[in-house]
Amino acid sequence: MSTASTTSVLSSERAQSEFKNFGRATLADYFGDFVIYRNLEPLDRRLPGLRAASYKMNLSSDQIPRKLDTDYAKAAIFFAKQGQKLRRQKVELSELLFVGDTPTGDGQAYANMRQLSGWQSSCFIGSERLAQEFLVDIDEEDAVYCANRWPALADWVRWTLQQGMRLDERTAVIVDIDKTLLGAKGRNDQVINEARLEGMFRTMASVLGDRFDRAAFEREYAELNRSRYHFLTADNQDYLAYICLVLNGGLVSFEEILDEIKSGSMDNFEQFLRWVGSRLLINPGAGESIRQIHEAVMCSVRTGDPTPFKQFRRQEFVTTIERMGNLPDDAPVDDLLAREITLTNEVCELADWLNARGCLLLCLSDKPDEASCPDSRESPDLPPIHRAETHRVGAGIRPILDELG
Ligand SMILES: [Mg+2]
Repeated sequence: MSTASTTSVLSSERAQSEFKNFGRATLADYFGDFVIYRNLEPLDRRLPGLRAASYKMNLSSDQIPRKLDTDYAKAAIFFAKQGQKLRRQKVELSELLFVGDTPTGDGQAYANMRQLSGWQSSCFIGSERLAQEFLVDIDEEDAVYCANRWPALADWVRWTLQQGMRLDERTAVIVDIDKTLLGAKGRNDQVINEARLEGMFRTMASVLGDRFDRAAFEREYAELNRSRYHFLTADNQDYLAYICLVLNGGLVSFEEILDEIKSGSMDNFEQFLRWVGSRLLINPGAGESIRQIHEAVMCSVRTGDPTPFKQFRRQEFVTTIERMGNLPDDAPVDDLLAREITLTNEVCELADWLNARGCLLLCLSDKPDEASCPDSRESPDLPPIHRAETHRVGAGIRPILDELG
């Protein structure tokens, strides 16, 4: 088989298309409660989750799988099949569409699902770069379509139909949330990052009070967020936030940690946790709240919980909701994209169109559940992210889709 990968530079006409505000909506308007976050417990309680049904998913470990793991794809296929059963659809699933924003994360999850299911499949990876020419890269062997414009979703759909896909009751559609359906990559994703950082700041301020040194935190976070420290942070924002808290609280200094790394005596996060544990023993005045967080993080890491810093994630939930639907309806589109986490209109219109054709739609996200749903004690009155209204912003692709059938 050829390993054709074609890159086309298309007319820049579409690049000029002006984004519009298409009014308010919620993620649930398109996906209902068929939304599954990091713990792999579907929000629609009728769908069995990892806790109740992992044995039916044939997983190789009892840990919560991450997006890149084969077990994650097994769970995703299981959810799709259960969803099909739940809607009493007699036709068996035999096609997969996947929409995401990261070639590594989403692309790998897609590749695993495609291989395990044997379904005819295709994946769209979007990352907008309006300063560049409109580029599409098609990997024909794996049916992966990468584009630097979100309106190219319509071109991708045309391409999948040309490949013989039917896009009907037999088709499972899996859509990523962060930076795909919400906060489109390259267009609006910086607001998601801001919400996360603000969540961290508030957590630090509540733990450290007046001692919180925001400038030092920003400096240390920016350094340790680099990929060269992944051996320590495991590319996990919970780990990183905890490390920065310990540094800011003065239990360990930034120079000390760099020295330990340089001398090769610090090579993973659990080792760092033990180091902090011993510092807390010899430093009883470190403060009760930092000690409590240390113990909670320690406990979660031991049980294999990928989201050990709960307090930070609950703050991130609040700062995320604060940025949804927060601007008035007549706010200029540039302001919406700069200050609000918006729904990606092209993905919404595609979801609507696929729904009408009878496809099964699911949202699958690596976002921690704690950062996506309210906490019954701390934020009981806030809606979960998928039911929070916000503006739909982007280009209109519905007329193009309707022409396809
Ligand atoms: Mg994403």
